[in-house]
Amino acid sequence: MNIHEYQAKQLFTVYGVPVPKGDIAECAANAAKVAEQLGGDAWVVKAQIHAGARGKAGGVKLARDAREVAEHAAEMLGKRLVTHQTDAFGLPVNCVWVEEASAIKNEFYLSLLLDRESERLLFVASAAGGMDIEAVAAETPEKIVRIPVHPAAGLQAYQGRQIGAALGLGKEQQVQLPAILNGMYELFLSKDCSQIEINPLIETEDGKLLALDGKINFDDNALALHPDIAALRDASQEDPKEAEAKQFDLNYITLGGNIGCMVNGAGLAMATMDMVKLKGGAPANFLDVGGGTNKDKVKEAFKLILSDGTVKAVLVNIFGGIVKCDVIAAGILAAVEDMHLTIPVVVRLEGTNVEQGLAMLKNSGLGLTPAEDLNQAAELAVKLAQEVA
Ligand code: ADP
Ligand code: MG
Repeated sequence: MNIHEYQAKQLFTVYGVPVPKGDIAECAANAAKVAEQLGGDAWVVKAQIHAGARGKAGGVKLARDAREVAEHAAEMLGKRLVTHQTDAFGLPVNCVWVEEASAIKNEFYLSLLLDRESERLLFVASAAGGMDIEAVAAETPEKIVRIPVHPAAGLQAYQGRQIGAALGLGKEQQVQLPAILNGMYELFLSKDCSQIEINPLIETEDGKLLALDGKINFDDNALALHPDIAALRDASQEDPKEAEAKQFDLNYITLGGNIGCMVNGAGLAMATMDMVKLKGGAPANFLDVGGGTNKDKVKEAFKLILSDGTVKAVLVNIFGGIVKCDVIAAGILAAVEDMHLTIPVVVRLEGTNVEQGLAMLKNSGLGLTPAEDLNQAAELAVKLAQEVA
């Protein structure tokens, strides 16, 4: 689960990581009020969405007076912000964070993540902060240092000095760094984070280190242990179809193509995606109905797949192991009949009760296209989708 920058900054404060003073606002008038309460002579208005790269997309703006703060807020609020980290539709801006503007001397990159390879938490730091860290990693990997933390020993003082040296910090800033590193480390462990990123961490003109941006991801599987974190969820930032699928215990992922795919099991889903691609097509989504499915769940699954307006054909690829093929067939028929489906549906069933399932599809008179194997199913789905398109 992701949270907003302002929520990350509130957590940073609790864990002793310094951030600029600021507050959130849900309307332009309140944004101006926040600026007045903060005082000072310059503020930054920041659109709150679950994506980065807002700066380049007009989601981070400097204001010199309260009127300008209100103007920027009015421009951002109620719209969708598209950045290169969102899809083409962007994400809705329901609130802005107004904070004091900092006089920036240096921008650094600092993050803490779980490195599965070394099985440790890993600090990643770079003096080339503020920009696209993926580009730094690709073009100048020597500018990034990685410091793994041994779980038994915990974060050591010398590691703080290593990170400070890599960032090229002066003495005064080096003294401030341990509080930031320890805060990140403690926050990561106590709230079951999967990543904490500060980009940029800045040195101000008057020598202070501040987290100017904050991004935190949490391990979904641990959310039940942290109701305070779970409460930070903002469903408006999530794919509505993926959220709806979760309600029905279905795993749904939006992709970019035009073939809707209904499968069971992650492995079969991957194989199905590969086959569709191999045959020259592109999946619009994939929906994993899971192991213990029933007729109603299959029907919901169908509705979700088709709610994606881009779907030109549906490919069903189910292995009846725990769930039986005739149950799947009944669900498909109920959905197709209910929804007066006009686009082609290719069905490949295999496993328990496959004969009954296929006979039900064949005798339905609903014009479904059965396939004998995955190869043929993918080929047919791609061909029929092209014909419809
Ligand atoms: P994003 O990563 O989504 O683009 P950031 O919060 O990192 O958003 O802001 C982008 C850039 O805007 C920062 O690298 C920094 O240069 C500038 N910026 C952000 N907040 C402030 C601030 N409070 N004062 C001055 N500059 C800021
Ligand atoms: Mg940033």
